[in-house]
Amino acid sequence: MHRSWLEVSLGQIAANFRAIRRLAGGGVTVMPVVKADAYRHGAVEVSRVLEEAGARWLAVSNVNEGIALRESGIRSRILVMADFLPMSRPLFLDYDLTPAIHSLEGIREYERLAGLAGKAAPFHLKIDTGMGRLGTRASAQEILDVLAETRAARMEGLMTHFASAPNYTSAQTDEQIATFTAVLRHLRNGGIDPAFVHMSSTVPLAYGRKEAWGNLVRPGHAIYGYVSPAKGSPAAQALDVRPALSWKATVLEVKDVPAGASIGYGAIHTTGRPARIAVLGVGYADGYPHRLSNKGRVLLQGKAVPVLGAVSMDLTTVDATGLDVAAGDAATLLGVEGNESIDAQQIAKLAGTISYSVLCGISSRVVRLYV
Ligand SMILES: *Cc1c(COP(=O)(O)O)cnc(C)c1O
Repeated sequence: MHRSWLEVSLGQIAANFRAIRRLAGGGVTVMPVVKADAYRHGAVEVSRVLEEAGARWLAVSNVNEGIALRESGIRSRILVMADFLPMSRPLFLDYDLTPAIHSLEGIREYERLAGLAGKAAPFHLKIDTGMGRLGTRASAQEILDVLAETRAARMEGLMTHFASAPNYTSAQTDEQIATFTAVLRHLRNGGIDPAFVHMSSTVPLAYGRKEAWGNLVRPGHAIYGYVSPAKGSPAAQALDVRPALSWKATVLEVKDVPAGASIGYGAIHTTGRPARIAVLGVGYADGYPHRLSNKGRVLLQGKAVPVLGAVSMDLTTVDATGLDVAAGDAATLLGVEGNESIDAQQIAKLAGTISYSVLCGISSRVVRLYV
């Protein structure tokens, strides 16, 4: 019995991975992204099931996430996408992690470390084609000049990341693809042909933007059953994935209150009629967004009922009028009950945020169970 818990279906994660592989087809490697504790689904458990399902590559954000996977026995290749800090660098070699390097200076430094360690050191080079975040803006010729001096460190992949992938009314993705392709062509003409070429996260994959797939794709959101809605007119979504995570909370108390009763901090809700309220053991310290105050909905006995008043740190009050509900019952914050469902995208819309932030925001206080 828990105040609030997650139920994660590893079978659904594996099914989502297989659906992505079917869509990507034979020539494209699928590298699931398991950063941020696998978007709170549990990086170790998710990585194990993906490895069993045939994943040969996984991606994380930082070296600590990669080390945690190695220490739990994950043998797949692991790309670390956003951490090439000086103190992290030796750890790539110690733990057989593959860095995404984002500067020419980083390549030189990795070459030096790999030489000292006497190890072959594959890396992926990230180029900034317009995202304006990590990635080198050096020219292809400058990259070739550095690679000409490089022995131990080996450029195994060339990658970039899109800024506006879901926006099909923007030209930015096509411009980024063109910039990337030009750099790749120049490198190939200079005798450098990286084994892996990759640009796409979930959205360009799910909406079938094949010219952006290269021979490796990096889906995160889709592994967990989500594809963000696109703006404009993409090709029809061709990917059948479903959410793998449900979020529940226990009813701590049920009581009947008269009309005119104010509910919670700031008294921002007042009952308009005699009402029954249910107090749930979940709040913003668990990651249930405070912005859902007076706006959210949860499922109780298969019905969608509104959040009443402010979401507080540890508690949330919902309307249980007309329901035969008792302390100890479970409410569903995210998931399915009968014909009703609430997913992270709907919560995000009500809370004025994005589904990624809803999932990653579920705090470690919420117990995770595998079903
Ligand atoms: C997080 C991330 C991804 C995965 O993105 P999704 O939208 O969750 O599929 C892919 N590539 C990079 C560089 C990322 O940071």
